[in-house]
Amino acid sequence: MNRFPSELLSLISHLKKLPGVGRKTAERFAFYLLDWPEDEIKKFAKQLDTLKEKIYPCGICGCLKDSEHCSLCDAHLRDSSILCLVSSPRDVYAIEETRVFKGLYHVIGGLLSPLEGRSIEKLHLEKLEKRLHELAIHEVIIAFDSTLEGDATALFLKQKLDKLGIKATRLAFGLPMGSSLDFVDYGTLEKAFTGRR
Ligand SMILES: [Zn+2]
Repeated sequence: MNRFPSELLSLISHLKKLPGVGRKTAERFAFYLLDWPEDEIKKFAKQLDTLKEKIYPCGICGCLKDSEHCSLCDAHLRDSSILCLVSSPRDVYAIEETRVFKGLYHVIGGLLSPLEGRSIEKLHLEKLEKRLHELAIHEVIIAFDSTLEGDATALFLKQKLDKLGIKATRLAFGLPMGSSLDFVDYGTLEKAFTGRR
């Protein structure tokens, strides 16, 4: 790969970190970017530069926001008796698209995975426990991917919620094994919500 100028090589190695992008595609992207007008590249670079300042997780629910106010935490707009647990902020948007859920969300920030070294300590569970104490939650919906990690994490949390005397349901109906929430079509996800158990 040393046939490229080192700056180009560095750009390619960054692009290669994106999901589904291999060496060839990264090279194509890099050359494509080189053809962009300079002001477009600068706008793009500025966007990346301030990405984490402008879009950041809400300190309460973990959903993404770009201003002080988090509309997904707003008790006037949402039903605060029902809480939906998701592993990543991305899942929130998939569920919002279905419009079947009007409650609050809580992003735990990952799933248990012994293979990838993600243990219970890595999940944002203290915040969840705090919220469960503060809100009068009647039901917790566990909306994790239908994978081994999703199942293990759901089982662990269900046991925790049972001890606290909180009803926990899980999306399962119609979700094929191995499916991640953001790849499931809206109809299936909607059915998974209404048919939860
Ligand atoms: Zn929030």
